Parts: sequence; C-alpha cells; structure tokens
Amino acid sequence: MRTATQPRLDAASQALRQWLGATVLPAQCALCGIGCPEVLCPPCRAQYLGLLRPRCRQCANPLDDVALLCGRCLHQRPAYDATVTAFDYAAPVDQLLLQLKFGARLALAPLFAQLLHVAIQQHAAWVAPHLLCPVPLGPARLAQRGYNQALEIARPLARLLDVQLQPRLALRVRETPAQSGMAPQERQANLAHAFAIAPEHAALLQGCHVGIVDDVMSSGHTVNALAAACKGAGAARVSILVVARTPPH
Ligand SMILES: [Zn+2]
Ligand SMILES: [Zn+2]
Repeated sequence: MRTATQPRLDAASQALRQWLGATVLPAQCALCGIGCPEVLCPPCRAQYLGLLRPRCRQCANPLDDVALLCGRCLHQRPAYDATVTAFDYAAPVDQLLLQLKFGARLALAPLFAQLLHVAIQQHAAWVAPHLLCPVPLGPARLAQRGYNQALEIARPLARLLDVQLQPRLALRVRETPAQSGMAPQERQANLAHAFAIAPEHAALLQGCHVGIVDDVMSSGHTVNALAAACKGAGAARVSILVVARTPPH
C-alpha cells in the first residue's frame, strides 16, 4: 500500500540514482561491458565512433555525392543555417543516447560533447557561434526528468569551444506532446510557437550567431522552431549542433 511519504521516497531514490549516475566512475564500457575505467573502451571508440560521412551542410542529412546541400534544403530552406552532427542515430549510439536521456547516465554527456567537438573541428564550413543555447525542456518535463540532456551536453561543449553558454536564453512556452507517433505535418503544427526568447536575454541576440545544442535531431522541426524564434528576435545566424541525426526514411 502506498503511503503519503511514498512519493517523497520515490523522488529521493530517483535523485540518488541520478547522482550516482552522474558522479560514480563507470567500471564497464557502456557498449560491450568489459571492465574499463572510461565510459567507452578504446576498441569500441575505434569501432563505432568518429566515422564521419559527407552530409548536407544545412541539415546534416547524409549525402552520397559532393553536393553541399541536400534536395530538401534546396527545395525549402530551413530557418537554421548549418548543422553539425557526429553520428547517424543508429545502433549502438542510439542506446547510449537513450541511457543519457531516460536512464540519467549523465556521465555520458561529456563524452558526447567531445565527439561532437571532433565532428565540429572536421566540418569544412564551420563558423564558431557567439553563444550556445541548449534546446529547453518545458517545466513539467524538466521536473519529471530532473535534468535537461541538451544542457548536460551543451555545458562541456561550451568549454571545449570556448563559447559562452546561455541556458536560459530560450524558453519552452508551450508543453508539446511527445513527437513520436505523429505525422510530419502534425509535428510541425505541434511545435509552432513552442519557444520564446527570454525578454531579459533578447538584447544578446542582435546580430548574434547562435549555436543550438540538442542530443538528437529527427525531422528537424524542433530545432527549426527554435532557430526561427532566435532569428525573429534578431539573431543573424543559427547553427545546430546535435550528437546524432536520424537518417531520412
Ligand atoms: Zn567496449
Ligand atoms: Zn539538407
């Protein structure tokens, strides 16, 4: 039987699990499970990570040829100007990202920041942004999860890039239902006016190049909506920095 103290105990044990996930050194490789003091063992790093492929400079969808932009971006230009990603959202990286997002394995975030930094350094047309802004969660989802995985990645990435972090630049003003299971048009409508720029930070955006950070980019509607809000508030350029990109189906 649940008692009045149960929710508090549940919250405390969740917080403890998150603290453990964030602070205790991993004893096993997150992918193959062999004993290892780092998050990933050197063979897994070599096998799965750091395989960069040609991508559209604007949306980071994979390209087979040397074109700079994909057909979709040529047909309808997104609100953002460039996208850099480290991986396709596929096994085994998808499992690691799920561990960060839903398993509170916060120790993975600096690893993702490092790998994204490697991809950024190899990007032919990279222009450094003036500031980084993680995709914000709504208050209800933030309270439920206890952390924002995009901010966890953005914090070490800002240090690696030597760029200031502005975690409260953008606000999620409308809680949006989960995007999975929706038709593409529904997703886009679902996100219209989902973001606003915090009035106290709006002056920062005049003529600014913003780097938007997120864990995964799928349709791109989320980052596009946030990029449009930044441009509407005066940003001159927006680059998207995501750990993984879902390949188009
Ligand atoms: Zn391994
Ligand atoms: Zn594209």
